[in-house]
Amino acid sequence: MPLNGKMLNYLAGEWISSNASDLLSVLNPATGEVLGEVPLSSANELDMAAGAAEAALEDWRRTPAVERVQYLFKLKFLMQDHFEDLARTITMECGKTLDESRGELQRAIENIEIACGIPLLMQGYNSEDIARGIDEIMIRQPIGVAAVIAPFNFPGMIPFWFMPYAVACGNTYIVKPSEKVPLTMQKIFGLIDQCGFPKGVLNLVNGAKDTVDAILDHPAIRAISFVGSTPVARYVYSRAAANGKRAQCQGGAKNPIIVLPDADMETSTRIIADSAFGCAGQRCLAASLAIPVGEAVTPFTQFIVESATSRVVGYGLDDGVQMGPVITKQSKSRIEGWIDSGSNEGAELLVDGRNAVIPGYEKGNFVRPTVINGVPPDGMVARTEIFGPVLGLMPVDTVDQAIALVNSGKYGNMACLFTSNGASARKFRYEVKAGNIGINIGVAAPMAFFPFSGWKDSFFGDMHGQGLDAVEFFTQKKVVIERWPKEWSRRF
Ligand code: NAD
Repeated sequence: MPLNGKMLNYLAGEWISSNASDLLSVLNPATGEVLGEVPLSSANELDMAAGAAEAALEDWRRTPAVERVQYLFKLKFLMQDHFEDLARTITMECGKTLDESRGELQRAIENIEIACGIPLLMQGYNSEDIARGIDEIMIRQPIGVAAVIAPFNFPGMIPFWFMPYAVACGNTYIVKPSEKVPLTMQKIFGLIDQCGFPKGVLNLVNGAKDTVDAILDHPAIRAISFVGSTPVARYVYSRAAANGKRAQCQGGAKNPIIVLPDADMETSTRIIADSAFGCAGQRCLAASLAIPVGEAVTPFTQFIVESATSRVVGYGLDDGVQMGPVITKQSKSRIEGWIDSGSNEGAELLVDGRNAVIPGYEKGNFVRPTVINGVPPDGMVARTEIFGPVLGLMPVDTVDQAIALVNSGKYGNMACLFTSNGASARKFRYEVKAGNIGINIGVAAPMAFFPFSGWKDSFFGDMHGQGLDAVEFFTQKKVVIERWPKEWSRRF
């Protein structure tokens, strides 16, 4: 656990202080307070983690699945026992409100629960007598050492889209959290330590790009799960694939939401505002473009402006706060730069969240909810992932125009529709090119027993995180064909 504020690595069941000379400060984005320091671990330190994971592999894969999941049951209960402390840690280092932190932790725990079903989920299948005296069997075996490279925006949840399934399937594992938010995993590994996993089954390495490159190049690591921005996802996917590894890489997003005139306008707007401004817009499933159609344009615009203006912004640990800060000063100025661009592209700034100062938190990285109307479809604001509390409005006349706009984007993480008409909903579900679809839902985040299904530039790979896709990803199939002629059996 942090030693004098410095994050530790966890290798082969021991807490180890990194000898990296590069250290970054971990800052509370609301207060500017220094929460600790994170080392940027070297390739050598990653090699030690991979070595520990490799050494643990043979015994772990031979441990029966029903025994492997007992450690996960313990982890689930420990995480529930420490739920509030973990949620507060997420808020302190990541900035979201306490309720948002609780929500992400809950989903982390749900993924452990689903992975505990691995004795059933990783079963193979067989066919007897595919020819005379010949049987064919498909068995699933673990792929080996695997690793996750995580982003900053869900420090408690995202590693759990992968890690519980990986170890339940008999793999050994390395977690590389985002260097911006290393505290939550530090605490979760404190709980993992108490579960008594055999040494080397789960390892934690702090670091940034060089650590990632060492993961991508390490010959013992067979599978990589990445979640982060699209340029890095593309890079990780290509380098992992070039090194012969299995990879699943979730990237960025620009999520459109269509609002039809027959939607319940007040409720829909409240849900859409939660999607756009919740987690300060730093969610890969945040609504960032709203496309009101025809008669929805006027009431939707009016309601969303009210919602954006009245949102309570502040420190996520304070009561009544509905939106926290963005992660860094650089993010704040990048987001404000995009708001400037909106004006420069001819759009109208209906609610301007720039230059926000929250009394008592003057050092925080706050941007207030922002609404930009008439964003040109081919402009940079419509095309770029801003990753902040900024909603662009693109009014159109027909559903077909709205769907065409949705499908013109390069990302495909999520698309949503608000309507009371089943036929419009079905058309939308059928025609829209995105992997996670919401009908009257603002954040279409699949439950742990469904895959998290981004498409296009939001995902590189074949098998997604969570549920059965994760089982598929963390196992390799082996097919056995056996001949046992009757006359041989008769000998016994
Ligand atoms: P990021 O791409 O900057 O960092 C993600 C991880 O990659 C971190 O662990 C970081 O250390 C590492 N990294 C950063 N730059 C690297 C480089 N050049 N080479 C190798 N490794 C590098 O992402 P972020 O800012 O931490 O997270 C926000 C992004 O993540 C947004 O784009 C968001 O949409 C995306 N995201 C996507 C999903 C999804 O499910 N599709 C979920 C959450 C976040």
